[in-house]
This record gives sequence, structure tokens and C-alpha cells, in this order.
Amino acid sequence: MEEKLQNIRVWKELNVKDVEKHLIVVGELSSECFSCHEIGLGLDVKICPKCGIYFKYMGFRRKNPVSYLQRVKNNFPGIVFIDFEDFKKNISKRDAHKLFNTE
Ligand SMILES: [Zn+2]
Repeated sequence: MEEKLQNIRVWKELNVKDVEKHLIVVGELSSECFSCHEIGLGLDVKICPKCGIYFKYMGFRRKNPVSYLQRVKNNFPGIVFIDFEDFKKNISKRDAHKLFNTE
């Protein structure tokens, strides 16, 4: 008999550089490729149409209901959800100047 799997969030050590390179960031209305900052991507996009990287990680700018996340996961089974706040903290620790003071 097949057991039903449930979602339990885990902490995992990730290579921040790898996450940066393969991250799609989901916002209110559309998604953004973190690597080249192409916006307007749909949630079913697995490869960035602009820079050609494939997405391995997905971060969210806001909290989403589990049902929503489940839908995304069903469309894109291989994707790894990351905590976008954790990710931002890590990259800002690493080089805040370079990434956030670009003007
Ligand atoms: Zn891109």
C-alpha cells in the first residue's frame, strides 16, 4: 500500500552560488530569474527564456498557502523550495555591497 507523503520543512545546507545561478523568485504577479533578472516568467517555466539556465530552486517573496505550493510542486516536481529570507540573509552577509548598492 502506498503511503501518502506529507510536507515537512527541513533545513539543508546549500551552496549559495548554486542557488543564485538556478533560482526563480516568485512574486505577486509573476516570477523573476534571479540570475539575469528577466521578469514576467510563468510558474510553469523550467528554463529561463533569456539566459537559458534551468531552475532548480524556487523562492517566494511572500507567504503562500500550502495548497498553492502543492500546485506549483505538481507542475514542477523537481523544484526545491527555499526560504527566500534565508537566502537573502546569506548573500547579504557575503557581499552586501556588491549586490545591494549597485547605483
Ligand atoms: Zn535568466
